Amino acid sequence: MVYQRADIERIPAYVQGKSLADAVKLSSNENPYPPLASVLEATRERLESFNLYPDMGAVALRERIAGHHGVRPEEVAVGAGSVEVAAQLVNASAGAGDEVMFAWRSFEAYPIMTQIAGATAQRVPLDAEDRHDLRAMADRLDDTTRLVLVCNPNNPTGTAVGAADLDDFIARVPDDVLVVLDEAYAEFIEDGPDGLAYYRERPNVAVLRTFSKAYGLAALRVGYCIAHDDVSEAMRKVQVPFGVSTIAQAAAIASLAAEDELLDRVRVIAQERERLLDGLAAEGYRPARSEANFAWLRLGAATVDFAAACDAVGIAVRPFPGEGVRITVGDAEATDRLLEVARGWPGPRIPDPTSD
Ligand SMILES: *Cc1c(COP(=O)(O)O)cnc(C)c1O
Repeated sequence: MVYQRADIERIPAYVQGKSLADAVKLSSNENPYPPLASVLEATRERLESFNLYPDMGAVALRERIAGHHGVRPEEVAVGAGSVEVAAQLVNASAGAGDEVMFAWRSFEAYPIMTQIAGATAQRVPLDAEDRHDLRAMADRLDDTTRLVLVCNPNNPTGTAVGAADLDDFIARVPDDVLVVLDEAYAEFIEDGPDGLAYYRERPNVAVLRTFSKAYGLAALRVGYCIAHDDVSEAMRKVQVPFGVSTIAQAAAIASLAAEDELLDRVRVIAQERERLLDGLAAEGYRPARSEANFAWLRLGAATVDFAAACDAVGIAVRPFPGEGVRITVGDAEATDRLLEVARGWPGPRIPDPTSD
């Protein structure tokens, strides 16, 4: 195509988790529960008026989110999923000649949004336990780094950063570099550092959250960021106008009202995660210490074969060829079926160090 920007060709495509007909879909970290009745009801009321544009400022939603976290509405930026909100942050802070740092492997949208902004990705390898290597990340900061994305817990490995490591890291980041704590799976962590505590203390920290995972609104596309006034104001300038539909705004407000009920579901999913991790470990696998709603098995060269064995019995998982498999926690039956495949899998169950 002759009209495209020269660098567009190098942007990797986002891979959606596979859906197999009649399969259990454990490939996109979705919430296995259907929408709550109260949330459905709130959206139904809005169906009668979708000839009208939504409130572009999402005022009611931003007020509810602000109240929820004890901040002012001005400190809340919303978007069409937290992927779009993260892109607002990148677009507002980095361009040609600037670097955006993140761990790797991490969320596959990060390199895409970085390249779309025309900035350069600084990928810092995870440590041997598939966790962020925050010390190495701090060592790599330089004059060109504009923004650092810390995915906590990390997608696709599920590992969370420790409070002491995060304290040390944030203390080493200069004030003019923005640290974005992407907490898409925060609700699934039992205890760990609270991004908002860092936000309150530091001018250069922002916290990303989403309604897609714990709150189960993935198809409605609504996420948000808690960011200081200068950052949130810049984000509003680059946002997609009317990016959050009336229906999504209503569902998010109703979900905050139903938080207790939703968090009960989160606890069940977290328990199921433990059963999945323990079951895999009992079979000789070495799943990463996940704090999210998915498990990560580093299988190296065997990754694609393992995913194919899951496919064959109607379970869709998310392979990262040559690296590992990400398995979303579903319901109890899904865990049973997955563990059955894992039991029957001839191996190897840990990556073969001689092949790559
Ligand atoms: C799923 C996910 C998001 C959120 O996605 P949206 O549906 O766009 O809100 C953000 N960050 C990470 C790391 C994720 O895994």
